[in-house]
Amino acid sequence: MIEVIAFDADDTLWENEPFYHRAKDDLSRILSPYREADWVNRKLDENEVSNLQVYGYGIKSFTLSMIETAAEAVDRKIEAHTISSILEIAKRMLSAEVELLDHTEQTLLQLSSDYDLMLVTKGDLFEQQRKISRSGIDHCFNRIEVVAEKTPTRYLDILKKHHIKVERFLMVGNSLRSDILPVVSIGGRAVYIPNENTWFHEMPEQEEIEGAEYDELEHLGQLPEYMAALERTLG
Ligand SMILES: [Mg+2]
Repeated sequence: MIEVIAFDADDTLWENEPFYHRAKDDLSRILSPYREADWVNRKLDENEVSNLQVYGYGIKSFTLSMIETAAEAVDRKIEAHTISSILEIAKRMLSAEVELLDHTEQTLLQLSSDYDLMLVTKGDLFEQQRKISRSGIDHCFNRIEVVAEKTPTRYLDILKKHHIKVERFLMVGNSLRSDILPVVSIGGRAVYIPNENTWFHEMPEQEEIEGAEYDELEHLGQLPEYMAALERTLG
């Protein structure tokens, strides 16, 4: 049987990527006198991905990538008011209300009577802690982990730290790259709940997915029924 169900947070329990989409649209507008929106989006994507190793995930890292993109858009002759406008976008993102996805609260409450629920989210510690405390659902979790990167090693560290056997662990999330494949690779179970807004960087190449055993649900509201069926097969 499963004892611990771990959940990803961004775009699994609450909205995240739509805030980035809005910010990208705003940046394209700011830079529209200099570059087409397609150019801005492409350059920003490139900068975000190449900066991940330097800055890590999160809004503050994204902001530095926006400034870098703006500098490139205007051939390095960036003006202070452009930087101010970008910082305004960042502050709006950082202070945004947490918007829970459909079924989140009800599903967590339902499952919390039978399982230890855990939150495993990656990103900037300050940003993630703020969202967790403002989500109104932090009381549903017995354990919360904020990590810089979701790798097989990090998952093994988490299991060890909390004395959880991998066969008793199930991870739920919207990212094949971060929530599903690393957990499957260490022998855990994973339930993939796709979200149409998932960042392209979280989608692995087809060959990375081949052979990986995980289940897929349409939405979080199906999880209690899925767990009941799973427990019957596990005996
Ligand atoms: Mg996510």
